[in-house]
Amino acid sequence: MTTADATIVRLIQGFERFRAAYFETDHSLFDHLVWDGQRPKVMVVACCDSRADPQMITDAGPGELFVIRNVAALVPPYVLDGRLAGVSAALEFGVKGLEVEHVIVLGHAMCGGVRSLMEFGDADPRFDFVGQWVGLLAEVRDEVRTLVSEAEPALLARYAERAAVLVSLRNLSTYPWIAERVAAGKLALHGWYFDFTWGVLMAAETPRGPFRQIDAAQVPAPAVGGEP
Ligand SMILES: [Zn+2]
Repeated sequence: MTTADATIVRLIQGFERFRAAYFETDHSLFDHLVWDGQRPKVMVVACCDSRADPQMITDAGPGELFVIRNVAALVPPYVLDGRLAGVSAALEFGVKGLEVEHVIVLGHAMCGGVRSLMEFGDADPRFDFVGQWVGLLAEVRDEVRTLVSEAEPALLARYAERAAVLVSLRNLSTYPWIAERVAAGKLALHGWYFDFTWGVLMAAETPRGPFRQIDAAQVPAPAVGGEP
């Protein structure tokens, strides 16, 4: 590696293009975001995977998405046990503080976190923290193991990735301030799945599935909530 590592130079050049677009050509958006604050209507819980960036795949601009990213796009259930809870704190900030109107759990194909779960359960020997984290999805592993054993491993993985989105979607409803807002028609919950092996986006019809491919001409109802 040199001090002018090409990978890092590319990122800085990217920032310079961003600055030219938003600060030199047109100040108005960031002026508005600085003086009026952020008012995103949508929170996304996404995976850390570099291929499934929610802002990139939805072509969203600055200020549009409040994003939480973690391994496998997981939402833990509501538990007040005094432990540090980064995901729950971010959910609380978005829902109670910013009053977002939509929460989207965004899973994706070929997820390394879900693969770790399927191979090692909650005890991946390669990592100190990943096993326990993806162990939140134990029910997904159990469910997939009851499916036809001769099914293609890749098909089972795609199934497990979608099932993981549904677990997180159901866990969202265990937060009392989310359930309250859903019941009042102020918040809608969505389960999305980005399959980059086919270039398609799918949405869960209910917190138990199924998933259907979506496009702007056929906007699906949220899996949970929506109009009161
Ligand atoms: Zn992932």
